[in-house]
Amino acid sequence: MPELPEVEVIKNMIKPFLKGKIINYSIVRTKKLKYIIPINIFKIKNKKILDIKRRGRYIIIILLKNTIIIHLGMTGILSIINNKNNIFYDKHDHIDLIINNNFILRYTDIRKFGFWIWETKDYKKNIFLKKLGPEPLKNKFNNLYLYEFTKKKNIYIKTLIMDNKIVTGIGNIYANESLFLSKISPFRISHTLNLKEITILVKNIKYILYKSIKYGGSTINNYKLPNNNIGNFTQYFFVYGRKNKLCKICKEQIISKTQRNRSTFFCYKCQK
Ligand SMILES: [Zn+2]
Repeated sequence: MPELPEVEVIKNMIKPFLKGKIINYSIVRTKKLKYIIPINIFKIKNKKILDIKRRGRYIIIILLKNTIIIHLGMTGILSIINNKNNIFYDKHDHIDLIINNNFILRYTDIRKFGFWIWETKDYKKNIFLKKLGPEPLKNKFNNLYLYEFTKKKNIYIKTLIMDNKIVTGIGNIYANESLFLSKISPFRISHTLNLKEITILVKNIKYILYKSIKYGGSTINNYKLPNNNIGNFTQYFFVYGRKNKLCKICKEQIISKTQRNRSTFFCYKCQK
C-alpha cells in the first residue's frame, strides 16, 4: 500500500509533465474502481491543469473550475507514458488522461481499491479531505500539538499516530520505524508518554518521512513507482518486515505481533 512518502514521490514525478498543460480527453476502460468513476472523468475535454498537489495519501489535480481527487488504494499507480511509444495497454490500465504534450497520465490498479473523485467545490472541504489532520511534515504537527492528544488518550501510541484525524499519512511502516528510532514500545499507552518522549517521536516521524521521500519511497509487495522505478528505502528499515532478524542496534531478534489487525514489529530490548 502506498504511504505518504510513496504518494509524495509519485506527485513529484508526474507534476512536471502536467502542470500548466491541457487534458485533451480521457480514455476510461472500466466503470468502477472502489467507487463508480464519475461521468465527468469520462467526458473530460480540453481542461487546463493548474497544479498537482498531495494531501495525506491523496493526489489532487487542480483544474480551472474543478478538482480531481485520486486515492491509490492498495495497488493504484499513476505513471507518465509517452503517447508516441506506448499505445498499448493491459487489463489493469483503467484510466488514461491524454495530455497536449504527447504524454499520457495513466492510472493502473490491479486490485481496484483506489478511487477517483470529481469535486466541483473547494477541494479542501471535500468529504474525504476535510476530516484529515495536519500534514506530518508541516509545522502545525509539532510536539505540543501531539502531546495534547497523547496525554488525554488511553490507547496504544502506535494506534494514535496512525489516526488520520490526528495526523494524516503515517501508515504502518512509518509508525513502526519512527517508534523504533524513538526507543518507544508500540504497546505503550499514549498518556504514559512524557513531553520529552513525544518531542523525540515527532522529530523521528518527520525524519523518517523525509528520508523515505529522498530515497524514492519504499517498495513493498511489488508496489511500483511510476515508470517501474523502485523505491529503495526498504534497505534502511530497522524493524518493519524484519521478524526474527537481528536488531541492527542490539542484535536481539525483532518481534512481530498483531496489534489492532496490523503487524507490529519491534525490539523489546531497544524499545521501552
Ligand atoms: Zn534492539
